[in-house]
Amino acid sequence: MKDLTMRTVYVNGVYLPEDQAQISIFDRAVLFADAVYEVTAVVDRKLLDFKGHMARLKRSLNEMDMDDVYSHDDLLSIHRALIEKNDLDEGVIYLQVTRGVADRDFDFSQIESTPGLFLFTQAKNLVKNSLAARGQNISLVEDQRWGRSDIKTVQLLFSSLSKTRAKKNGADDVWLYRGDEITEGSSNNAYIVTENDEIITRELSTDILHGITRNSVLNVARLHQMKVIERAFTIDELKSAKEAFSTSASGFVNPVVTVDGVPIGSGEPGTISKSLRQTYLQASLENAI
Ligand code: PMP
Repeated sequence: MKDLTMRTVYVNGVYLPEDQAQISIFDRAVLFADAVYEVTAVVDRKLLDFKGHMARLKRSLNEMDMDDVYSHDDLLSIHRALIEKNDLDEGVIYLQVTRGVADRDFDFSQIESTPGLFLFTQAKNLVKNSLAARGQNISLVEDQRWGRSDIKTVQLLFSSLSKTRAKKNGADDVWLYRGDEITEGSSNNAYIVTENDEIITRELSTDILHGITRNSVLNVARLHQMKVIERAFTIDELKSAKEAFSTSASGFVNPVVTVDGVPIGSGEPGTISKSLRQTYLQASLENAI
């Protein structure tokens, strides 16, 4: 009988059981966090926003001076094969491209190996999600990440540490701030809704990841005649907002109900956040491949 707990993963050209997957200790991903990644949602065995994720992967590779050797079609085939091989109805597919293997040296200009590539699946309930139903409790932490948060590198330690500490203290996630302005969440983009039903989220820059879900959600909001303003908002604006929510590929649109213990609006998931979650999901399922 097939072992349902043992996934089939993809590593450098080969599909194999997860307990046989290996990468070199000399891979620059291990030694320098010299790698970029993408996470794509799967719903009803289909990929959401796949084109967007592959376009951002290309951009990340370019910003890292890494060769873009894997074609869109090859990557699509691997994603689809992993859905089949793992019977993945709903969840995510994680993809990582590493700069490759070389003797340890800060200077990577002499590297000769091809970039490494691996992918694996994670089965998860994304659509019926209890956190989305009850709303997130967020705690605020100063953003101490490096200055190129727009590149989707695997250098995620600050966000990982902050989220773990916040969860220990009873929060669900952290949002980060620079000065008195919110940048984004640990692994999501951050939004408020004002009393005038304007949706405000920080403009694209090197300070935040250019979320693929952010782009789709803002398109959906504009299509429904909602007013979207791309600018930074302050901690005070957040705490006195009518609603707040986050977006990400695996979380879709997730309402926020408290920030550092302060209730946002009524302290329940907001009407606009809830309806954006529905409309975003509907639109992306229609375009899923
Ligand atoms: N910001 C950060 C820091 C993230 O890690 C992520 C998710 N990886 C996002 C935003 C949301 O991006 P996306 O909608 O493409 O998942």
